[in-house]
Amino acid sequence: MDISIVIPLLNEEDSLLELHQWITRVLEADKYLYEIIFIDDGSTDNSWKIIGNICKNDPHVKAVKFKRNYGKSQALHAGFSMAQGKVVITMDADLQDNPEEIPELYQMIISDNYDLVSGWKKIRYDSKIKKNIPSKLFNWAARKVSGLPLHDFNCGLKAYKNQVVKDIEVYGEMHRYIPFLAKNEGYTRIGEKIVKHQARKYGETKFGSDRFVKGVLDLITLWFLTRFAKRPMHLFGALGILMFLIGGIATFSILAAKAYKLYYHIPTHLVTDRPWFYIALAAMILGSQFFLAGFLGEMLLKNSGKVIRYKIDKKINTQ
Ligand code: UDP
Ligand code: MG
Repeated sequence: MDISIVIPLLNEEDSLLELHQWITRVLEADKYLYEIIFIDDGSTDNSWKIIGNICKNDPHVKAVKFKRNYGKSQALHAGFSMAQGKVVITMDADLQDNPEEIPELYQMIISDNYDLVSGWKKIRYDSKIKKNIPSKLFNWAARKVSGLPLHDFNCGLKAYKNQVVKDIEVYGEMHRYIPFLAKNEGYTRIGEKIVKHQARKYGETKFGSDRFVKGVLDLITLWFLTRFAKRPMHLFGALGILMFLIGGIATFSILAAKAYKLYYHIPTHLVTDRPWFYIALAAMILGSQFFLAGFLGEMLLKNSGKVIRYKIDKKINTQ
């Protein structure tokens, strides 16, 4: 099988038929061996019925439906685990992503040997204030954290080598950072392709403006996980030491000043009247909290059974 098209959807009844026809037209023209996988993420409209009809008439189409709405990341995860094509291409179901891009994306994976190609909606047809400007900021932050020079992390249109989608674990709302997840799994050939983008023809966007708050929080989590998940103590312990240093210096300076003044019979204030006393106090408490967080993190990690181990890339003469 050449291509698996993975399409997560939530309440997209109006666009499904058109989308299926368009994809089919493009793929048949180039005589690919392909499958189209619809993942209905708990739609409450007629989407599933329409998918049922499509499946009856087209053996290329596979579909699953979730019991309830689990979110786009989970839908992608389900599609990825089913995908059999050498190249896996994800696209949104709302006709905003253009199926005409499929052949070129396929070529970039097969001929140019990319592990992952992410679409870039250079010209967007979404509301400027609601999406364009926050999305620029968001992509800038994602670039800084991930070290990947991509312009449009959240683009629904992406192409992967099959092995890549099997190796990444998309959870929460991490679908925004799939290129970053792939990079963390050791895939380095990550490319970008400018893709055509359409205005949403039917229905409306499923993500509110809270997407950016969640997006930023997920980014921080991801940064933490990639840098320190294996050794929480390296972060918390370092912060703890820093706090103890500040606290120690503050305490020493108070005691030294007090001793000096007592020795030379200079009138002194109570130590509790000095600001350094409170700085020392706060720093010591924070420091021990950081150490505690570090220890707890290490203990959780040890008991979770998910101590992160290596993954073997290639093998010779072994099973
Ligand atoms: N989607 C989904 N589950 C959700 C939300 C969205 O499967 O909980 C699908 C949705 O049907 C669409 C794609 O994810 O196919 C992208 O969603 P949307 O078009 O609303 O996002 P936007 O284009 O506004 O970023
Ligand atoms: Mg959309």
